[in-house]
Amino acid sequence: MGREPSGEDMLEAVEAHVVRRGVTTRLTAPGTADLTWQPLLDFRVVRCVETRGERPMRRPGGPGEVADRPTYTDVRTHRVHPPADPGRHEVHLLVRRGSLDEVPCDGCRDGSNECGACDGRGRRDCPRFVDCSGCQGGPDSCWECEGTGRPRTRRATRPRHPYATTLGERPARTTCKRCRIPDVACPKCRGRRQLDCPACDKAGYVECEQCAGTRRVTHQECEGTGRFTEWTEGWVHHTPHHDKERRLGRLDLRRPTGGLGAWRTAELTSATDKLPDDLDDAHRELITPRLAVREGEVARRVTLRHLPLAHVRVHADPHRDYYAFPSHTGIEVVARPTGERVRHFAAITAAVVVLVTFAVVLVVAAAR
Ligand SMILES: [Zn+2]
Ligand SMILES: [Zn+2]
Ligand SMILES: [Zn+2]
Ligand SMILES: [Zn+2]
Ligand SMILES: [Zn+2]
Repeated sequence: MGREPSGEDMLEAVEAHVVRRGVTTRLTAPGTADLTWQPLLDFRVVRCVETRGERPMRRPGGPGEVADRPTYTDVRTHRVHPPADPGRHEVHLLVRRGSLDEVPCDGCRDGSNECGACDGRGRRDCPRFVDCSGCQGGPDSCWECEGTGRPRTRRATRPRHPYATTLGERPARTTCKRCRIPDVACPKCRGRRQLDCPACDKAGYVECEQCAGTRRVTHQECEGTGRFTEWTEGWVHHTPHHDKERRLGRLDLRRPTGGLGAWRTAELTSATDKLPDDLDDAHRELITPRLAVREGEVARRVTLRHLPLAHVRVHADPHRDYYAFPSHTGIEVVARPTGERVRHFAAITAAVVVLVTFAVVLVVAAAR
């Protein structure tokens, strides 16, 4: 459809449509129909907004890939191209010329320090023996000598086998290593009260778990590198900002994109690009302020879709709304029940529900 459809074109299309419903009025004749333009609009803009700045940087180790970054002298004027797609988010990191430097770490020696847990000895002291877990290293270790090696008979006093009397049944006992009396000693330590330390195997020390015996620990701050790289970083961010304005008409008229009618489309990529001539005046007014150049804007993409649409009320057929719009095959017309008609039926339905409820209440009351 090359030219703009006129109101008359629209009325003629509706006329051809309503003939099928038996309405044979000439809609172009005065007083037979009302036409209002309700054009549809789908406007979207994505701007690429640029922000810049610089900051001091310091990180452990050598410069690595920082040395390969592009350099600049003035971050405010340094030229960086915006992304080809303004909807893409991009970050550019730059290095101020001459600012890249390597400094030694002042908190370590070549990336490590003496281990604090073992004072640089590589091992920690550990007792050679531990209390027996069978007798808790107490007098129960031997009922005769209590682990001292001097039998009660030579020390006299307290009753023999105190636990045997209180427990009734004597726990299994063994010969005491100290006093050599059979059947009286804790079977675990055999009267010695103590066992060899399982952690150090009686050695008296264990390897330091902080330094694994190496006596030194890695300096965390410089990550064991013993140096830092310092530089001034310039950064340029390209951030997409989205905006849209849509007038898509009645919900029950919408179809998947492109379905309803032949939408006209336009794409604008610069702030000086003109809006299409066939755009509705009200839409032009709506969109124009949204096209102003924003602070930091370096690129944009405007996508505009619009469709002329006429709403027609036919006096001879008052319960339907007709919508006429250009399609790929000419002017298409769709009919929908009027809003009043929908509300009218909704009201009838509600009244029926009330009446039925009332009737049910009456019947229930009468049955009691
Ligand atoms: Zn260090
Ligand atoms: Zn003993
Ligand atoms: Zn014991
Ligand atoms: Zn030990
Ligand atoms: Zn250590």
